[in-house]
Parts: sequence; structure tokens; C-alpha cells
Amino acid sequence: MSQLTVGKDVLSYCTKCKLNLGHTIVAMKDDKHIAKVKCNTCNTIHAYKDPSTSSKQGKTRTKKTEGVPSKVISVSDLWMEKMSKTKNKSTPYAMDGRFHQGDVIDHSKFGPGIVEKVVDDKIEVIFRHEIKTLVHNK
Ligand SMILES: [Zn+2]
Repeated sequence: MSQLTVGKDVLSYCTKCKLNLGHTIVAMKDDKHIAKVKCNTCNTIHAYKDPSTSSKQGKTRTKKTEGVPSKVISVSDLWMEKMSKTKNKSTPYAMDGRFHQGDVIDHSKFGPGIVEKVVDDKIEVIFRHEIKTLVHNK
């Protein structure tokens, strides 16, 4: 498990985008619990929302969760999952290229990544260690 600290990228449910997206930790409750995150897509700062529970309605049992750290999906876990599922061939990343959601790109600095989201001339790419917003279609 990677250490959670302020400034690290995590996957959290964004209350504004209504999607599970890459967020940067801005405040920690303690060394295992994230207090606040900033959405890398819309820059909204909000309380950390576990992406694995955000889609479920209601409470999942009133079991005592104290002492049990909530499962945090790290960027590398997400990357591994995405990369293992995709069948797409990687394309070298270039600013003048045009990419789509699910495309696998090969970045000269960050290595292989998968396009998670496309917003106009920007793409959000999950790399092995971080989620980056890159430009395309220039
Ligand atoms: Zn957002």
C-alpha cells in the first residue's frame, strides 16, 4: 500500500462531476484517512468520498468501522486494473494527436497511460504513479 499524504493523487468520487475521478489530497484526518481532496478535473475541494461506496445507496450494515481503514484505491491499483482490461494498442503521446476515452498512450516521460476522460482539448490520463491532465488535438 502506498502512503497517503497531502499532495498525493487518489481516486475519489467528485460531488460536482458526479464521477470517480483523480483527486489530489489536500487534508488528512490521520495517516490512514483522507479528510479533503481537490478534484483534478473541476478543481473543487470537497470531502473525500470513497469511490467504491459512492454508487451504493444507503448504509452497508451498521458494523463498527472504527480502526478499519476504508479501502483506498491508489492510482497504481487503478492503472493496473485499467491496463489489464484494455485490449487497445498503445499510441505514442503527441500534443497534436487526438485521443479518446479508453485509448492507451505511451508518454515519453510518464510511460504508458490510459485515457480516462476527454474534455475538449484536454485528456485526463492515468499513469502508473499519477493522474495527469494533458493537452491533445493542438
Ligand atoms: Zn470534479
